[in-house]
Amino acid sequence: MKRVLVIGEAMVEMRPAGDKPDHYASAIAGDVYNTAVYLKRLAGEDAQVSFLTALGDDALSQRMRDTFEDEGIDTGYVRTIKGGTPGLYMIHTDDQGERSFTYWRSAAAARRMLECDSIEGLADLLSGFDLVYFSGITLAILPPDHAALLIAAAEAARPNGTTIAFDPNYRARLWSAPELAIAAFDNAFAVSDILLPGMDDEHDLYGSQSPKDTINRLQNGHPAHIVLKAGKHVHLYTNGQETGILTVTPVERPVDTTAAGDSFAAGFLSGWLDGLAPADSVARAARVAAFVVTQPGAICPKTIFSSVLKQEQQS
Ligand code: ADP
Repeated sequence: MKRVLVIGEAMVEMRPAGDKPDHYASAIAGDVYNTAVYLKRLAGEDAQVSFLTALGDDALSQRMRDTFEDEGIDTGYVRTIKGGTPGLYMIHTDDQGERSFTYWRSAAAARRMLECDSIEGLADLLSGFDLVYFSGITLAILPPDHAALLIAAAEAARPNGTTIAFDPNYRARLWSAPELAIAAFDNAFAVSDILLPGMDDEHDLYGSQSPKDTINRLQNGHPAHIVLKAGKHVHLYTNGQETGILTVTPVERPVDTTAAGDSFAAGFLSGWLDGLAPADSVARAARVAAFVVTQPGAICPKTIFSSVLKQEQQS
């Protein structure tokens, strides 16, 4: 069985429910958490997916732990911050159906997930996994010295056979200046074996004008798997030896594009764990994400997702 560690934050999501403006339904979501859920569903018993995060000791944090377990996610690395609470966000939908978000996450326990770690200790922990995945949001919510510790530990774990995967997932509001995001991402790219950037972020942060520019920059001296999301339907990928483009037909009327990139990452990583060729892993990623955008919310019910599992078993 493969061992996967996903590092980052899960939050409570409040979304409008019914017609009354003050009625909300809650769920649990967060970029890498969404990836962990879909990856576990895709991998089933072939992989143990563990989540490294921190929660509080309140009732909501306990509910989140229970939800992780219901999803089959190993909670052995979910740390508890005494007196802490999880982050929360609320989705607002305007008359045109446009969504906006309000966040309460600046004091979330997840920001303190690495406060008791040393580089050596964390490197030892990461070395016990086949695959470690984190994102630019993980780096953004950590204090800068803890983000640096994570990168150093990832680098130290690689010679022990741990593969590092990184999705930059740039969120401008989480960084006080774009230069800080660039510096953190450059460090993460340098220690990662699987890179999952998107062209929008590349354009906004690095001024990249074309997918080729991005691939060239990321590949410079670095033989990583790169999968570049260059729009809703174009994906470029390379691993140094095999290079290709996957073009898909976009879903015409997506219901909710939340977690499109997160589920894409899950699809690619599950293909990688299965030993598929890069082209097949990218195709799986695109199929999974195309399904997820037809469903409301970040995480669709397991019963609904089972149609994707059937499709992947047959393909
Ligand atoms: P994010 O902003 O969450 O990173 P993207 O918009 O980059 O997400 O989309 C990630 C992937 O999700 C795309 O590369 C594509 O494979 C899939 N995707 C997104 N929107 C659609 C759509 N309308 N139809 C089909 N696939 C989609």
